[in-house]
Amino acid sequence: MGFSEAIITLAAVWIAWAVFNISLVLMTERRAKLAGVGAYVVGIWRPRIVVMPEVRDALSARENIAVWMHEYGHLHHRHIQKNLVIAILLPFYRSRARVTRQELEADGYVREAGLGPELASALRKLSSHPFDLLRAQLLDRG
Ligand SMILES: [Zn+2]
Repeated sequence: MGFSEAIITLAAVWIAWAVFNISLVLMTERRAKLAGVGAYVVGIWRPRIVVMPEVRDALSARENIAVWMHEYGHLHHRHIQKNLVIAILLPFYRSRARVTRQELEADGYVREAGLGPELASALRKLSSHPFDLLRAQLLDRG
């Protein structure tokens, strides 16, 4: 394989991996169901917040607003756009810390709106994942 073929192969792998990563950033209902995600944002230019019926029915009205505001917090902080830029420019970069920080930023948006306790109780009702329980604890502290 010559130098130019190597470059073309490398570029093709890069683009394929970037496209795959972009598809991961763009949430769809099917992916949310597979991952067991109860609430999420779809779309970039005209984003839409989706709360699954199971989640909606399990929560009180105020808890539902808190969950909705958490998703709105992701929009407010432009997390999807940021993740998309990273998926395109640095497709091989993985950061658990970024995911954690974005969740806490979205929670902070809810706390500032005064619905921290409602989000904490929603998290406890919906999840037994250690990270979600930690988020609930942080929200309780105010
Ligand atoms: Zn979130």
